[in-house]
Amino acid sequence: MSAESTGEGITVGIDLGTSNSVVAVVQGGKPVVLADEEGIAVQPSVVAFGHANSAIVGHRARQQMVYAPENTVYSAKRLIGRRYASDEVERMKRMVSWGIAEGPHGDARVRVQGKVYAVPEVSARVLAHMKEIAERATGQKVSGAVITVPAYFNDQQRQATRDAASIAGLKALRIINEPTAAALAYGFGTEKRQHIAVYDLGGGTFDMTVLRMEPGVFEVLSTAGDTFLGGDDFDTLIAEWLRAQVEKQHEIDLSENVTAKTKLRDAAERAKVALSALPAVEVRVPNLARDKQGRAVSLHLRLDRSQALHLVMPLIQRSFLVVDDALSQAGLATAQIDAVLLVGGMTRFPPVAEAVGRYFSKEPVGTINPDEVVAVGAALQADALTRGFDPDATVLLDVTPQTLGVGTVGGFVEPIIPRNTAIPTDAHKIFHTAHDNQTEVRIAVFQGESRMQADNERLGQFVLDGLRPAPRGETRVKVTFAIDADGIVHVSALDQETGRAHEIAIEASSNLTKEEVKQLSFQDLGF
Ligand code: AMP
Repeated sequence: MSAESTGEGITVGIDLGTSNSVVAVVQGGKPVVLADEEGIAVQPSVVAFGHANSAIVGHRARQQMVYAPENTVYSAKRLIGRRYASDEVERMKRMVSWGIAEGPHGDARVRVQGKVYAVPEVSARVLAHMKEIAERATGQKVSGAVITVPAYFNDQQRQATRDAASIAGLKALRIINEPTAAALAYGFGTEKRQHIAVYDLGGGTFDMTVLRMEPGVFEVLSTAGDTFLGGDDFDTLIAEWLRAQVEKQHEIDLSENVTAKTKLRDAAERAKVALSALPAVEVRVPNLARDKQGRAVSLHLRLDRSQALHLVMPLIQRSFLVVDDALSQAGLATAQIDAVLLVGGMTRFPPVAEAVGRYFSKEPVGTINPDEVVAVGAALQADALTRGFDPDATVLLDVTPQTLGVGTVGGFVEPIIPRNTAIPTDAHKIFHTAHDNQTEVRIAVFQGESRMQADNERLGQFVLDGLRPAPRGETRVKVTFAIDADGIVHVSALDQETGRAHEIAIEASSNLTKEEVKQLSFQDLGF
């Protein structure tokens, strides 16, 4: 086995998806997708909790979903790095069968069987499962990974993904963007100069990324996305339609029936997938519920592709607003795009692929496997990073997806690093004290495109203290905002007068603290 090693173990690439996850490794210079003992590579990102901290992950967890919906956590990635008090969490509450609770940092958490889990803890279960698959398949210990995230993920979501890796006992060598990973895999072994557009529609998120590929260099020109547009939303629309039909037919109300709704979601997803291959499907759900007389109600309906398309068309149309935005940010017209890659399970749905083809007036590349390509790109990057400096290695230049700014009076945001700036990057700003004898400065940091604080993601508040008491305006502090190659934000400050560097503490972040991550670590828990 010639997989690259970090000293203690090999490093792999993991596509930690909303619906499914895949692990790959580079062996003998070639990327290989790894499968479990049953030969299955694509693993559902589903965690089914049992008694006393036990959990099963992957296919077996997915199978138990309809029997124990309250204990089976799926699509947890949609919650990662999110605040409890947010529109997204409200939407999630209506969608999932498991519980959502507020954590001590105001973060959204998963509640199962009366126990509350931080979302990175749930994702860590999935990562640990992928690590185990890789260890069994390669016969080697896995110590590090390049993990992919949607390009549009903000700092909190990236940081939380890193935390998940730490909890799972994996060193996250790098967090890279899913579409960039897909382009790396596509470009592997070719030297062609071209512009590539990656349309990535997964289970929970949509991203559009435009790259320029030259021999030895992959440069992301722009990225745009919607972290709440994905296959789950297609399932919701179809399931709601199925529910409306059965409620009308049997004069029942299933709006509060969690088990029936989970069965309908499951049926909706299966129907959607089946419609990718067939023009019409029979949707059957036996013993869905009981009617007012206590008789068993079953669902049996025919759904054809055009009906399904009618239901989900608004979602497909929404994706093209994002595509328009990414192209205009890259300064390119559709005719300048040489290759269109489709990534994410939802692009297997023919109406999606057809709409993309029509938009670009070009057939999307048909040779890539949308389920595996992201993990393959991550494995290639893991390999490049473990090899260290290699003049032949491809250089990857990515961008920050969302504008970073600081809060100003009146609830506004002043941009500091605009979106689509190449990373790593930094920018600084001089802050003055506003009052006499002021000894601390508080700087609230936001990510997002609005000029209003309320419409952006608040990353946290940085507190700079220990300033020398002086008349207002006299103390000047240079604050540097840096975004690293993982897309994670770092803030540091320098007292202009004394040249002293200040420690900056972050408050009001929704992320776990270092101590919490350590406490949750599976190694410490004896997993
Ligand atoms: P991903 O997050 O990339 O794994 O994408 C998962 C999403 O793709 C889920 O919503 C799946 O239902 C959907 N999906 C996977 N395969 C198909 C298929 N053949 N046809 C339609 N949707 C699919």
